[in-house]
Amino acid sequence: MKENGILLEQANAWTKIDDDERKKVFRFAGEYKEFLSTAKTERESVDEIKKIALSYGFKPISDYGDALKAGDRVIMENRNKALFLAVAGKENIREGASIIGAHIDAPRLDLKPIPLYEDNELVLLKTHYYGGIKKYQWVTIPLSLHGVIITSEGKTENVVIGEATGEPVFTITDLLPHLAKDQMKKKMEEAITGESLNILAGGIPLDRNSKGNCVKEAILRILYGKYNVTEEDFISAELEAVPAWPARDVGFDSSFIGGYGQDDRVCAYTLLRAICELKEPRLTAVALFVDKEEIGSVGNTSMGSVFFESSFAQLYKSLGEDCSEIGLRKALLSSNVLSADVNAGFDPGYSEVFEKQNTAKIGYGVVLTKYTGARGKTGASDASAEFTYHVRQILNKNGVVWQTGELGKVDQGGGGTIAHLLARYNMDVIDCGPPVLSMHSPFEIASKADVYMTYRAYYAFYNG
Ligand code: MN
Ligand code: MN
Repeated sequence: MKENGILLEQANAWTKIDDDERKKVFRFAGEYKEFLSTAKTERESVDEIKKIALSYGFKPISDYGDALKAGDRVIMENRNKALFLAVAGKENIREGASIIGAHIDAPRLDLKPIPLYEDNELVLLKTHYYGGIKKYQWVTIPLSLHGVIITSEGKTENVVIGEATGEPVFTITDLLPHLAKDQMKKKMEEAITGESLNILAGGIPLDRNSKGNCVKEAILRILYGKYNVTEEDFISAELEAVPAWPARDVGFDSSFIGGYGQDDRVCAYTLLRAICELKEPRLTAVALFVDKEEIGSVGNTSMGSVFFESSFAQLYKSLGEDCSEIGLRKALLSSNVLSADVNAGFDPGYSEVFEKQNTAKIGYGVVLTKYTGARGKTGASDASAEFTYHVRQILNKNGVVWQTGELGKVDQGGGGTIAHLLARYNMDVIDCGPPVLSMHSPFEIASKADVYMTYRAYYAFYNG
């Protein structure tokens, strides 16, 4: 945004970057696409983030003892599903930290505890969807299975089926239009139901002499042969069906990235890059990568867990601070936070749900969202005018192309982020991330310029 004149001027980010920066935008997007194609679950995101962080010199906090000094980089982990990264700052931690938090879970189809069944000599997998999905979007697309199975012997089997070239995928079938007269009359939310999201998983009977109900056994034998897995083992498993395709460029000009899980892995990746590239920040920088945001930030790996607080306390102690509760509280409440999450971009095909003047536009840079919520801001962590000014100044000073935006028209719907869970510590918090199209779909769209500006915004915030 430009502040020289009286009128607010918002501009397309592509018009604000020179040829040199354009090259950087495309290079960054290429690296992001690789991350997005590899990290399709919260566990895989933790693995990828750790791998990249370790290559940038982050180490387990136990390696440092109580002798953390400015520039040191630490990593703390929660159950392979959440991470706390920090770069120690030059100032005392009691002056507060600069915290940015993103979530690494995304809407998907989880397998039920007893998923396998056979119907008319077809084997299918029952699912329970996770997060807010439009169910009709998940049929007739190739799906891959990701996750872990803990076997009877207590061994963890990591599963990824359907990503490598030549590997089989899975899919949910839909009715042919020739016979869909009744289905087509139904409301969209009723035509495809939660219980109908069953994944096709096999069709060859056990042997040539077998009669009926033996395909399931044949599939179980394959699973036993390959993974040593029995039907009971599915009860102690976490298997997620996700779109099997990689992230791709979209458009004649390749201006967009299309891919699964960009809410919120686009913020996770840009945040990771920002904290990795920090040297010796003035204030200690913290990056959070948390799970379970899509189902309300509940559970021990979510932002609602004390994992954040206990990790912060451990960081505080490792910086040589005494363990007084008051000192720790002061460090927490002096901290500033960006809640790194996506916003909805204006979609010309559905203009009626947006209030144009206060909606983010694809390609117009990173979005600063003062409040979220629904029905009169309910559930929002409304950032103060003062803190909004603080962040606005940082973005302007650093030449970051940014905009503001609400999530749709008043009373059209709404949503929330992890912002309110950090605001509980009396920190200042504001939402900040790129706009996306087709949010929560199997193929979400983001502008490469916005992705790059998000990375620059996070980097500037850490250095601000
Ligand atoms: Mn999100
Ligand atoms: Mn979401």
